[in-house]
Amino acid sequence: MTLMLKTVPCLRDNYAYLIHDASSGRTAVVDVPEADPIKRALAQAGWVLSDILITHHHDDHIGGVEALREATGAAVWGARADQHRLPALDHVLEEGDRVVLGNEIGYVIDVPGHTIGHIAFHFPDSGLAFTADSLMALGCGRLFEGNAAQMWDSLTKLMALPEDTLMCSGHDYIKGNGAFALSVDPDNVDLQTRLAELEVGRASGKPMATASLGVEKATNPFLRASQDYLKHRCGKKAATDLEMFSYLRDLKDRF
Ligand code: ZN
Ligand code: FE
Repeated sequence: MTLMLKTVPCLRDNYAYLIHDASSGRTAVVDVPEADPIKRALAQAGWVLSDILITHHHDDHIGGVEALREATGAAVWGARADQHRLPALDHVLEEGDRVVLGNEIGYVIDVPGHTIGHIAFHFPDSGLAFTADSLMALGCGRLFEGNAAQMWDSLTKLMALPEDTLMCSGHDYIKGNGAFALSVDPDNVDLQTRLAELEVGRASGKPMATASLGVEKATNPFLRASQDYLKHRCGKKAATDLEMFSYLRDLKDRF
């Protein structure tokens, strides 16, 4: 039995994710940008919310937590490092801690960079990872609190997950991310193919923020900072992987 996944668009370009363990009836939401779309999605699926998992403290990820907690009585899980700036936590998490959702177990991965206390959730049996604003579809989060070395470390940890893991990120930034990716890596056939598929997907209203880790590794320039051909193409032949990542992150900030 694996978790059922439902993507819930929120606000302008955020995504929340519902995960449901049918054998136990437990349902969690990963991030709560706002409560109403999540309540509607729960009602539509006939699921009862039991748990709220928070990735990081930004308003567009926690704005609806209190309203949803009040409406459902769900338990709230979040990072110890950010306890002082998150809604009251029922379960305080550190790297390697487990989130037990019925028969499914999620593992906490520290992924600082975008913020210091950012965490990701990996459910290995279902092949799902919730990365919010760390690894993003065709991109990665901006460095608001952490530095490039921290983000590169975080991405390196995520890259070690199984290639068929579905990486679920927090935003639909695919247009800007895709344009940037193509600008630095124009000859990448996998990237060209993915962008063409995304065009078709967008037209049919498909959620834009999930892809397998294998696809991200083949197409996301931030995961390709260690590739010699990309360093060469960017005139950074002698750069270390971290220097190359840092260069790409700076370039994207100004893109
Ligand atoms: Zn954020
Ligand atoms: Fe965000």
